[in-house]
Amino acid sequence: MNPIWQPFTQMKTSPPPLKVHRGKGVWLELEDGQKILDCISSWWVTIHGHSHPAIADALYQQAQQLEHVIFAGFTHRPAEQLAQKLLTHLPPQLTRVFFSDNGSTAVEVALKMAFQYWRNQGEPQRTTFITFEGGYHGDTIGAMSIGAGSTWWQPFCPLMFPTKQVPFPATFDDDPSVDAKEAQVLEQIAQLLNHERDRIIGIFVEPLIQGAGGMRMCRPQFLQALAALARQSHVLLIYDEVMTGFGRTGELFACLKSATTPDLICLSKGLSGGCLPLAVTVATEAIYQAFYSDEATHAFYHGHSYTGNPLACATGVVSLELLEQDPQAYRNLEALHRQYLDQWLRDHPRLEQFRVCGTIAAMEIKTEDESGYFNAIAPLLKARFLAAGFLLRPLGNTLYIMPPYCITAHELETIYQVIHEVLSQV
Ligand SMILES: *Cc1c(COP(=O)(O)O)cnc(C)c1O
Repeated sequence: MNPIWQPFTQMKTSPPPLKVHRGKGVWLELEDGQKILDCISSWWVTIHGHSHPAIADALYQQAQQLEHVIFAGFTHRPAEQLAQKLLTHLPPQLTRVFFSDNGSTAVEVALKMAFQYWRNQGEPQRTTFITFEGGYHGDTIGAMSIGAGSTWWQPFCPLMFPTKQVPFPATFDDDPSVDAKEAQVLEQIAQLLNHERDRIIGIFVEPLIQGAGGMRMCRPQFLQALAALARQSHVLLIYDEVMTGFGRTGELFACLKSATTPDLICLSKGLSGGCLPLAVTVATEAIYQAFYSDEATHAFYHGHSYTGNPLACATGVVSLELLEQDPQAYRNLEALHRQYLDQWLRDHPRLEQFRVCGTIAAMEIKTEDESGYFNAIAPLLKARFLAAGFLLRPLGNTLYIMPPYCITAHELETIYQVIHEVLSQV
């Protein structure tokens, strides 16, 4: 009997998990010797490839120095270095770094901070967030509440708090109705802010790309208009960059690429270079100052046993250095995606709605079934890709490629070739 109960897996109907023996760069090697190209950076975390020697070395050095320490009343060099270094890359208004362990907790921290920010300032009636259809922010109850209420979460609905949900103006190459979609959403948000401004805490959004919702992309100008609306109405703008951070969008952060500044930003996934669980929620000085008080109850009472773990922070510092040393690694991928998309898939009769943002390419598979995560095509394709030696996990009928930045042009092209091949057979 296998004692392990796996995440996001129907244990009865799923094939048994593959045993991974080692990983190197973009390659995973199974115990039976089979090699698999990791086309999705494992769960979107492995930005520099597997078992990067510089990250492994930093981890080893730090493990001999200090593996962990309580993070209340104590601090350490790796956390300080990482916080300082991060801030040099974020908009200057973001000044305070709060550590946690994973994307969902980074989001919970942002939710609680935003909520308490208004309470500490005598506005406890602000209890509602504006959120987006198709959004995904994690699997804890708070993070689920501001997510899109997907089919996965139906059983938990009675536990979740309500939000004001608006459509996401998802777009793709040559989308004729993008302007109309954006205008409609912005109008709806403006209406909400007009009528209920005093009840709204802020707007929670995955900037530029909604990840688990199906790699749905919006234009930078939409975020600029959204940021302007939030600023005019004095509500908080909160960016969940758990997935879009650390080069994914072709720039270090989606906020930089879109030239917008949120009041809170959530980061995780690529933060440690994909090596250890680590997350931060970074706040503006104004938010920090709303907690900075002689009043004990105005403090932010939140923390985890492993908050600010030195090993994870040490890998985070090295990961950021690697990104600084070679920004072309993540900047070059967009042009390659577009080249191979045109060459191999653009004219495929089964594919539509092509879109590329930085290191991520996505498209829809046309099927007779209703679109969505439970679409039957996903497990079938996943199995075919695996058999061919490629780790690709379609989200319903959305097919996407999100490789580690160290992938070579040739390796990337083989992904497009295998998609072309497999789609011609199903
Ligand atoms: C993955 C993800 C999360 C949740 O992060 P976990 O580390 O899996 O808890 C939150 N937000 C976004 C946008 C994500 O992609």
